[in-house]
Amino acid sequence: MTSAPSPQLAPHERAQPLAKGSTYPAKDLCSQCGLCDSRWVAYVKDACAFLHQRFEAMETAAHGRSRNLDNEDELYFGVQQRMFSARLAQPIEGAQWTGIVSRLGVRALETGLVDAVLCVGQSEHDRFTPVPVLARTPEQVLAARVNKPTLSPNLEVLEQLPGSGIKRLLAIGVGCQIQALRAVQSTLPLEQLYVLGLPCVDNVSRDGLQTFLESTVSSPDTVVHYEFMQDFRIHFRHSDGREETVPFFGLDTPRLKDVFASSCLSCFDYTNAGADLVVGYMGATFGRQWITVRNPRGQELLDLVEAELDVAPVMSRGDRKAAVQQGIEAYDKALKLPMWLAELIGVFVQRFGPKGLEYGRFSIDSHFTRNALWLRRNHPAKAEAQIPAFAKKIISRYRLPKI
Ligand code: FAD
Ligand code: SF4
Ligand code: SF4
Repeated sequence: MTSAPSPQLAPHERAQPLAKGSTYPAKDLCSQCGLCDSRWVAYVKDACAFLHQRFEAMETAAHGRSRNLDNEDELYFGVQQRMFSARLAQPIEGAQWTGIVSRLGVRALETGLVDAVLCVGQSEHDRFTPVPVLARTPEQVLAARVNKPTLSPNLEVLEQLPGSGIKRLLAIGVGCQIQALRAVQSTLPLEQLYVLGLPCVDNVSRDGLQTFLESTVSSPDTVVHYEFMQDFRIHFRHSDGREETVPFFGLDTPRLKDVFASSCLSCFDYTNAGADLVVGYMGATFGRQWITVRNPRGQELLDLVEAELDVAPVMSRGDRKAAVQQGIEAYDKALKLPMWLAELIGVFVQRFGPKGLEYGRFSIDSHFTRNALWLRRNHPAKAEAQIPAFAKKIISRYRLPKI
């Protein structure tokens, strides 16, 4: 008598999440995206943004083509069919900007487009400790509004999908999370996946955030919200409603050089290449949000809220190149400027510096050159494979210090 053959199990059906506290496959480059905290760790070798860079394949699968490197807008901001600036006509109180992301999540649930929204709530003990959730109600989505400016293990909630009844999902996340999600998308027990991306740069661990706040702001424990804004200042909001701003050029660079997570110093997915729709701010003028629709699925998402938006075209003014080149050299020497000089440069740059999309390009150039240098110095064996073609083209426009 022969026993019946056991059905073939997919790799994730045989795998277990990695134990918390173990060394994850990307080692020091791990951004704690959460994939390894789920059984989809089975695919980590191909899916992890820091083990295997696969922008072209991801863009082609998600949008039907990869970005056109000869088109400046696509070179910088990725595959797109529309780009504009917007604000919610009725902003959501307590959101990071005007709350377009949370409103989209709410409408996706209310209209039945999806059964759940993957978003990031906060720990009950600490407003900056992220707690990823599969929100099933508009109230849960709204409770997750505002950035938790620390590495967040968003993909750990994949573990909750089997048996949950969730067949249609809206995932909100930053680039490294979305790269891993796209890589395992075809193995997920879902009928539809919509991806709403946030641009992201310079993220930190919770300890790193504490160092950043302590070196930058007057009262670190009362900060409830902060953002690096287009006026070249960091805007902090305190729990008593007080606003405090600090010029970028006044940051304590020698102390902060080690604060950013290694993952973020080796990341080139600032504008979230794999998302259907991206909602950020840096390509828009001060106070507005910046929307990039990458494909028809992204437009379908946007349709949920477009009637509630005050919309304007994107604009671009100034020339970033000299400022980027000077910044590369100053950062490399880890200069800390006296505050009076930082304020003076801040006023000058705010008045005459890059605006709109040119500000976005300023930020991308500054971060890509810094990250390429960091990777080539700290991980020379993997640097060339890790830097995508679009980033290499951008970096080649600048003079980098010797390795
Ligand atoms: P809200 O309605 O307040 O919703 C915020 C959403 O962010 C929530 O749905 C929540 O689920 C999600 N979220 C919160 N924390 C995290 C996290 N740690 N990881 C993943 N998702 C999270 N935009 C730029 O243009 N340039 C940048 O450099 C930039 N850096 C960012 C860095 C981080 C870590 C994050 C989370 C966002 C960043 N953004 C950046 C996006 C921007 O700050 C706003 O989040 C975005 O414009 C949406 O604003 P909103 O008012 O619509 O969001
Ligand atoms: Fe795993 Fe994500 Fe870390 Fe890569 S970044 S090792 S996929 S948890
Ligand atoms: Fe992930 Fe890159 Fe953001 Fe770091 S900067 S959290 S690696 S998307």
